[in-house]
Amino acid sequence: MKINDNYNNLTESYLFSTISKKIAEFKEKNPNADIIKMGIGDVTLPLAKTVVDAMTKASMEMGKKESFRGYGPEQGYDFLRASIKEYYGKKNVSLKDDEIFVSDGAKSDLGNILDIFSIDNKVLIPDPVYPVYLDTNIMAGREVAFMKAGEENNFLPMPDESVAADIIYLCSPNNPTGSVYTYEMLAKWVQYAINQNAVILFDAAYECFIKDKSLPTSIYLIPGAEKCAIEFSSFSKMAGFTGTRCGYTVIPMALEFEGVKLNKLWLRRQTTKFNGVPYIIQRGAEAALCDEGFAQCRNNIEYYMKNAEIMAETFRKKGIYFTGGENSPYIWLKCPDNMTSWEFFDYLLEKANLVGTPGSGFGENGEGFFRLTAFGDRDNTIEAMKRIEKLL
Ligand code: PLP
Repeated sequence: MKINDNYNNLTESYLFSTISKKIAEFKEKNPNADIIKMGIGDVTLPLAKTVVDAMTKASMEMGKKESFRGYGPEQGYDFLRASIKEYYGKKNVSLKDDEIFVSDGAKSDLGNILDIFSIDNKVLIPDPVYPVYLDTNIMAGREVAFMKAGEENNFLPMPDESVAADIIYLCSPNNPTGSVYTYEMLAKWVQYAINQNAVILFDAAYECFIKDKSLPTSIYLIPGAEKCAIEFSSFSKMAGFTGTRCGYTVIPMALEFEGVKLNKLWLRRQTTKFNGVPYIIQRGAEAALCDEGFAQCRNNIEYYMKNAEIMAETFRKKGIYFTGGENSPYIWLKCPDNMTSWEFFDYLLEKANLVGTPGSGFGENGEGFFRLTAFGDRDNTIEAMKRIEKLL
């Protein structure tokens, strides 16, 4: 028996374990320190009342013979797909029900989608970015090329026609940099993908944080994208489902390669390997998209975005270069005095008892940068920024 040797090619991710270890060591030496954590990209506000009510009602239905549900449809219940379709309709994106696949979150689909692509494909991934894109390709044994994101392009790399690609990952708003592509920029990516006969894997997990109406919240707002792009999205950050788990993937029927619809391949893959999302959770997700639930979820998003505004204001005042914060819950800042990401981590922890995420954990080009999240408590955010103002 041989193992999948590709796993040996993964670099061990020590990022969050090293952060925890450093915090524990610091706490041992400084038991009274009031540490504020702005590192992990997880939501903190509870689920919206309408969502909880819907899930409670669905639980009760499961306890009665006449409304009990067993195995559900792998692609998701019709009611949730109809709600997602309506959500896109409000953005002026017209989808068909069978173009929408309900999932247990964007991470699973972003990894699993690789099942339907040949191992020989050339993959293009931004650096820095959410590490799942790279690791899932390494696990599959695919070679990856990086597109450099940095201050020179405001962390928004653009296509280079001299570089060949088959699979292109785009994440907008980006984790960790918070940068958001404009319509014009995405149009160039769509054109490039069509020229290359490539597929764009568009991660829209943070689309709900886009406040600026002139920025696109879906790749399908770009003409031609239905012929070259798959979109992944999630209720995690939009409705606080990081513990509840629900997301969705859109694969347009127009997306065809070698005469085969990717939608059909994905349907086959999901019906074979995916168990679907529980009925109760799907009712919760449906409620997050109804008018009342949506308004409550928006309130939570606005709370986080107010935090982001407070943070952005502090770094602006200090004249520190950063991206994000305006249309994203992440602030991506340049470490002062040419400190490395980890040096700045230690400095912030020791001098201000603040915890963030070193940018180097998101790729080589993240070195010298640092990510702070706006998902925390308001008072803590204000206090953290007071400390930053004093320290930097
Ligand atoms: N995509 C990006 C860019 C993320 O940052 C995350 C989670 O942090 C995900 C996808 C995963 O989302 P989900 O919770 O839906 O799996």
